[in-house]
Amino acid sequence: MFAQFALHERLLKAVAELKFTEPTPVQLAAIPPALEGRDLRVVAQTGSGKTAAFVLPLLNRLMGPAQPRADIRALILLPTRELAQQTLKEVERFAQFTFIKAALVTGGEDFKVQAAVMRKCPDILIGTPGRLIEHLDAGNLRLGAVEVLVLDEADRMLDMGFAEAMQRLTAECAARQQTLLFSATSGGNAMREVVGQVLRDPLLLQLNRVSELNENVVQQIITADDPAHKERLVHWLLGNESFQKAIIFTNTRVAADRLYGHLVAAGVKAFVLHGDKDQKERKLAIERVKQGGIKVLVATDVAARGLDIEGLDLVINFDMPRSGDEYVHRIGRTGRAGAGGMAVSLICHTDWNLMSSIERYLKQRFERRVIKELKGSYQGPKNVKASGKAAGSKKKKADKKDAKGKPAAKRKSAPRPAGKPALVSDDGLAPLKRRLPAAD
Ligand code: AMP
Repeated sequence: MFAQFALHERLLKAVAELKFTEPTPVQLAAIPPALEGRDLRVVAQTGSGKTAAFVLPLLNRLMGPAQPRADIRALILLPTRELAQQTLKEVERFAQFTFIKAALVTGGEDFKVQAAVMRKCPDILIGTPGRLIEHLDAGNLRLGAVEVLVLDEADRMLDMGFAEAMQRLTAECAARQQTLLFSATSGGNAMREVVGQVLRDPLLLQLNRVSELNENVVQQIITADDPAHKERLVHWLLGNESFQKAIIFTNTRVAADRLYGHLVAAGVKAFVLHGDKDQKERKLAIERVKQGGIKVLVATDVAARGLDIEGLDLVINFDMPRSGDEYVHRIGRTGRAGAGGMAVSLICHTDWNLMSSIERYLKQRFERRVIKELKGSYQGPKNVKASGKAAGSKKKKADKKDAKGKPAAKRKSAPRPAGKPALVSDDGLAPLKRRLPAAD
């Protein structure tokens, strides 16, 4: 029920008129703190009802007493003309019983007409960064009275190269009392920078499935030729990264033991945890790591389940986890409670497709890192498909003969139903999963 929100009755009337009965999860999460005036950082997809989640609190504020001088009171900054038009429609629908006026300023429209629109000082201006900057430079745009700034699809604006324009426009809204930032993904370093500069003590609301993923964690991949190369990379990272405590994940016990042996032989104080270790050994390992005597833990997923070690700020995926959720789980151990952290995945050619599926699942692109001294010959597939997977990697399989000596028929994967996310656990990955040796 929308009546649960402390919204002006004219807004509730519009909501009823639009036949919105139940608020969506993002509306439930965002509207109350937005009405209280808090800055928000919301991760939610288009289609989640995110527009109403910021438009309703925004209109509610504007229904309060107006500033003595008529001026633009709210700016909604977004990446494209289409989204701007959609948003204007939504604003007008909700504002139909009020006197609040909104206007659009996007590229591809008459500049002079837009200048005239701005002279009339709409209460809400909805625009794309490029064109708004042009008006700012032409002296047509005054944002000094803006009370609320909304950055919608901020991740897309960054992808489109609008970082500087966003920052300039934000700085122009110097007197604002509230900033609401929406994005479909958590974003990378550039987003972290924007969040740090633009928001004031923001409330983070993550409405997507990968909600456990901490955005303060830097996520990188380093390509490797083989397990021996991965061992050298681990050794380098432990010697060169500054960290308090590290956990290195392998997919099998054998790999965990092997890596542990290698580290100990190289003088690293480490411990290993996997399904063959008994409860006593496990307790001892955890105690030693917690106390700080040991800084490096090698573990398999099952053995590491439920571990909550403070100060864990480096996660190394010696092997790529088998699913996006497992990845989130591993990485979720670092950067707890807002602290920073780093996750580095070591990627051989057998890990590549799994890695790119996880990227798609998380809607993130991991930072590609090269360690000069240890640069191998494998730098990722020569050609990649639109999905990010290696092109031609299924060829060998199709050539394989079946039991009757006939070439195996090309398997056509069923199309993913509309709206179904690219989950790592979907069919496309089953063969990869099976190829991997059993875990703990
Ligand atoms: P958005 O994610 O903001 O683009 O919204 C997606 C669509 O859902 C838009 O057409 C909205 O008008 C509609 N919508 C948003 N919230 C609700 C709701 N609580 N009930 C019904 N429809 C909604």
